[in-house]
Amino acid sequence: MTISSGLCRLFAIVVLLHGQNHTSRWTRSMGVDQDVDAAVVAARAAFEGPWSRWTPYQRQCLLVKIRDLVEANFDELAIIETLDMGAPLTRTRNLKGAILQMIMYFSSQTMNVAGETSGNSLPGNITSMSIKAPVGVIGGIIPWNGPLISQWWVLGAALATGCTVVMKPAEDASLSVLRVVELLHEAGMPEGVVNVVTGYGAIAGEALSRHPGVDRIAFTGSTVTGRKIIEASATNMKKLQLELGGKSPDIVFADADLDKAVPGAAMAVFTNSGQVCYAGTRLFVQRTIQEEFTQRMAEFAKTLKVGDPLDSSVQLGPLISQKQLDKVLDYMHGAPKEGATLAGGGERLGGELASGYFVEPTIFANVTNSMRIAREEIFGPVISVIPFDTADEVLTLANDTEYGLGGAVWTRDMSTALKMVHGIHAGTVWVNCYGMVDPNVGFGGIKMSGYGVKGSRGHIDAYLYSKSVYINAG
Ligand code: NAP
Ligand code: MG
Repeated sequence: MTISSGLCRLFAIVVLLHGQNHTSRWTRSMGVDQDVDAAVVAARAAFEGPWSRWTPYQRQCLLVKIRDLVEANFDELAIIETLDMGAPLTRTRNLKGAILQMIMYFSSQTMNVAGETSGNSLPGNITSMSIKAPVGVIGGIIPWNGPLISQWWVLGAALATGCTVVMKPAEDASLSVLRVVELLHEAGMPEGVVNVVTGYGAIAGEALSRHPGVDRIAFTGSTVTGRKIIEASATNMKKLQLELGGKSPDIVFADADLDKAVPGAAMAVFTNSGQVCYAGTRLFVQRTIQEEFTQRMAEFAKTLKVGDPLDSSVQLGPLISQKQLDKVLDYMHGAPKEGATLAGGGERLGGELASGYFVEPTIFANVTNSMRIAREEIFGPVISVIPFDTADEVLTLANDTEYGLGGAVWTRDMSTALKMVHGIHAGTVWVNCYGMVDPNVGFGGIKMSGYGVKGSRGHIDAYLYSKSVYINAG
């Protein structure tokens, strides 16, 4: 797939989205209540209809076929995502392995669903057991920062367990989800099993999270929206999975291997231009190496090429939108006024990039944990270096946040590493690495970062419920 044929394909999707042909699968691009309603009706009919008779083995075969189609069409998917949300092709193409692995993980889970039997203490000839059943219609609401990968946490689990789905992708980046649904149908998924309603969160997203025909919401997005979804879900006591914002601590001790820690901690934030929920934006560096570390990181940041995301030598693309650009620049320009020292970057990029939403990878030193850049989620390539002296002190600082999504430590000392692993209050902790996710193990948040896990047995269980069965054999 060349870039130009990718563009043609994207154009075709956009035409379909805006097409007036009401017999096409997409009748309007901005979904409203009636569209959500129609999608939920279709998802319910599929859930109770033919899809409910598919065996786990059939669903496993479907997922394997989907994996192969995704692999065969991956170049196109990567281009669509790059054009839609600005992540460089070097990143979107690189997600192939992780996405194929996720699909295979969910395919393996189809055959791994089991209930329990136990010796019972009831009188008579009673056999008792618990069996697992799919919860029903899942509302999937995802953000714009990586739909190419994040959609699979919903689709994979639903297809593995026999649920059905109504997806509401972010209005800023919906196209990779629409193309994937085409591939799902091509693989043989029955009509109605996965439905997409594009449109605004406040309209389509709200309607979905309030809809009485939806049994569970799987949401990834901001903490503010997460709270609204909790409120809307009260209509019918929906079960919820909420992956929300973060302000994750990344802790570098003086004994760390700095050749690994410098690029590791830099890319823990700069990846995807900082638009990653678990970015390690509060970088705690032991005071004795603060100066050297900051300088080396600033030098590393200068080697990163920011620019046209379709250029295969570019590592960082633009931010997603004017709104996000304004927000990030506001934090960048406000930090020195609070007393932070600019150690690298700090500005919007000019020249031939002036018309895009490009910003420099940015580092602030001498930040305190109480400054705005250290407390609020920026969702841009901005690192706050906060000095510390002792392990106890840094744990107190690391946990002084309303969020609890991720955290990391860089050290050669196993006891220091373990002290941080046990002491950081977050759903995921990395040691001498950052941002790795294995679907077998998963990740999730605590505190204001939400609840429910992505990946692992817990993820599959959340798409199932337990049914207790008592059989009187007479
Ligand atoms: P957002 O505003 O919360 O949007 C996320 C999704 O929710 C979008 O599809 C959005 O629709 C929709 N939405 C907005 N208002 C809604 C409502 N009242 N009811 C139902 N749905 C609604 O977040 P964002 O600004 O797009 O994304 C950035 C945020 O996502 C950051 O805070 C980041 O930390 C978080 N995030 C978390 C994770 C994680 O796994 N923990 C991963 C990625 C991002 P529209 O945008 O189309 O209007
Ligand atoms: Mg949004």
